[in-house]
Amino acid sequence: CGISAYIGPREAYPIVINGLKRLEYRGYDSAGVMIYDGEKMHLTKTKGKVSDLEAITDSEPDRKIGNIGMGHTRWATHGVPNDVNSHPHYSQSGNLVIVHNGIIENYDTIKKELISRGYSFKSDTDTEVLVNLIEEVKITEGCKLGKAVQLALTNVVGAYAISVFDKTKPNEIVVARLGSPIAIGVGENNSEFFIASDASPFVEFTKNAIYLEDEEMAIIKLGKGIKVHKIMDDSRVDPTIQKLQM
Ligand code: GLU
Repeated sequence: CGISAYIGPREAYPIVINGLKRLEYRGYDSAGVMIYDGEKMHLTKTKGKVSDLEAITDSEPDRKIGNIGMGHTRWATHGVPNDVNSHPHYSQSGNLVIVHNGIIENYDTIKKELISRGYSFKSDTDTEVLVNLIEEVKITEGCKLGKAVQLALTNVVGAYAISVFDKTKPNEIVVARLGSPIAIGVGENNSEFFIASDASPFVEFTKNAIYLEDEEMAIIKLGKGIKVHKIMDDSRVDPTIQKLQM
């Protein structure tokens, strides 16, 4: 299971896919990618290998074009390995998209509550419950994505590394970790960012990395920088930028 994402001026697809290949050693049963082309999100996902995913995108190359991308290799915990349960997952409105490694243990309670508020679900995953919880919090609190992720996660029992993107605010990505690793590669003058389960997908592009600690989240803004917060109380943390030696 792995996460690989990119936001910046380059074509995201090759970075994300090559990143997923470097993370293949972690094991997985399905793979998927979302590429945002400045207007639309293109979602491609399949049971099987990263090479199976590439076979689909190769036959429809439009799916590969864009400067923001989020990829995932899944090790199924909730819902069998199939195309629909593969990540990324959209929220009900289609505005939010998530990739997630880990388990949301109280997903069933949250899912019932969301269903009573009019949500419906395409997959059997705990992950689709989480992205809709974030959406519901964002709508009811009228807050930004980062705050919605923070508030939603205070209601979650489990383990996660997540990366979330909102196409209505396409200059940022929000990530969070509890129990599963997340590394952020920081480009020159915050001109680009790389997100991955370890630094191997981005070490060829930047030597500056931030490793989130458990119970931390980061709001990553293109051209601006990274704000790290504690999930439980939203307090700010000064992130340490590490120099990669690889
Ligand atoms: N629990 C999630 C699922 O089953 C994520 C699994 C993973 O870590 O890849 O879809």
